[in-house]
Amino acid sequence: FPTQADVLIIGAGAAGLMCASVAGKRGRSVLVLDHANKVGKKILMSGGGRCNFTNLYTAPDNFYSANPHFCKSALARYTQWDFIALVEKHGIPYHEKTLGQLFCDNKSRDIVDLLLAECREAKAQIRTRCEIQRIEPLQTTGFEVHTSLGKVVCESLVIATGGLSIPTMGATGFGYEVARQFGHSIVPTRAALVPFTLNKRSLERQQELPGTSLAVTARCGAGSFHEQMLFTHKGLSGPSVLQISSHWKEGMPVAFDLVPGLDLSEWLMEQRGKKQESFLHTVLSEFWSKKLVQFFLLRNGLQSKPLKHYGDSELRMVGEKLQTWTLIPEGTEGYRTAEVTLGGVDTNEVSSRSMESMKQPGLYFIGEVLDVTGWLGGFNFQWAWASAHAAGGEV
Ligand code: FAD
Repeated sequence: FPTQADVLIIGAGAAGLMCASVAGKRGRSVLVLDHANKVGKKILMSGGGRCNFTNLYTAPDNFYSANPHFCKSALARYTQWDFIALVEKHGIPYHEKTLGQLFCDNKSRDIVDLLLAECREAKAQIRTRCEIQRIEPLQTTGFEVHTSLGKVVCESLVIATGGLSIPTMGATGFGYEVARQFGHSIVPTRAALVPFTLNKRSLERQQELPGTSLAVTARCGAGSFHEQMLFTHKGLSGPSVLQISSHWKEGMPVAFDLVPGLDLSEWLMEQRGKKQESFLHTVLSEFWSKKLVQFFLLRNGLQSKPLKHYGDSELRMVGEKLQTWTLIPEGTEGYRTAEVTLGGVDTNEVSSRSMESMKQPGLYFIGEVLDVTGWLGGFNFQWAWASAHAAGGEV
């Protein structure tokens, strides 16, 4: 076990491994420590096993942070194109799935192997199953880090321990504890990119629907996402719900436009002109399955009758209800299934150029542990790569 390293990185996930390879290639001796039994566990489970490793359209607007400017510098200096070039250098086949989201053709393992190959080339050492016990700043510069494998003295210490989501995969609040130890503030954390849970009554009403999905626009607060919604046994999920969960706080209503991109009232009036005898439920089955039509009519207190029996104002009301179907989720599935953690180490106390702490020279924070959280779609990995690259060039 190495007792000394120029750079000690805690956390062998996306950000930690990327940072190790960049720093190692600058000639720094690098040691990466992780308490889990293997590296990059979240990468392995990401993107349904195919790792959505970046997004073609990555821009600062795709990130949430108390300081929205913070992410700009790192994202501009290590872009999606830089990571795509790395993926191509390693001959990893990939494809765009939708909305600029790039996935591996094969397995997420390809991305972990890429990072490990880069770390080998950079002569970075990695140790797993290592518990970090205590961090002590040295009097002059550097740190003494006590671990279950021994003591390490380092010049630069990089915290890359990620957020709180999926504790069973090794997530801990360790990074926040270290930040607090050195006087940093933490922006309150919250599970995000997470399914909603509904109350018992709502679940009973949708008991025929789990597994059914439809395209919607989900809206909550300032957020609006046009993607699929999925009914589940616990509530609602699917990309639109995961995205909008980042805007949701307890008690807030969420509205769904169930026929996005169309003025439903106008459309129904047109249909009334053409198909006077048709029932409302019949014309609506142009958009949804029979089960969904029944469900949405029932949930919105709407009766189905021949279109000729509806006046304009009634059709407007039907359109309005189905384009702003509103409910208040009971909660979310929480960190157990959340893809990311909102909040984290306050970026006002970290350099946006190098990711170095403004409170403790030589201490760096990268990746999800910082208060920078991406949308669904490859943005969170792009932040891990970009912030790690920024720190890797400085440590
Ligand atoms: P992590 O990758 O979480 O790495 C942190 C590392 O630190 C882990 O190896 C952990 O074991 C280690 N660690 C934690 N605590 C300690 C400690 N006390 N001591 C030692 N080591 C410690 N993002 C995308 O962009 N695209 C996707 O397709 C995608 N899919 C996802 C799917 C799921 C199910 C989940 C949960 C997340 C997904 N994400 C995705 C989000 C993405 O995985 C994270 O944002 C990203 O991994 C963050 O990188 P990181 O290096 O900061 O943290």
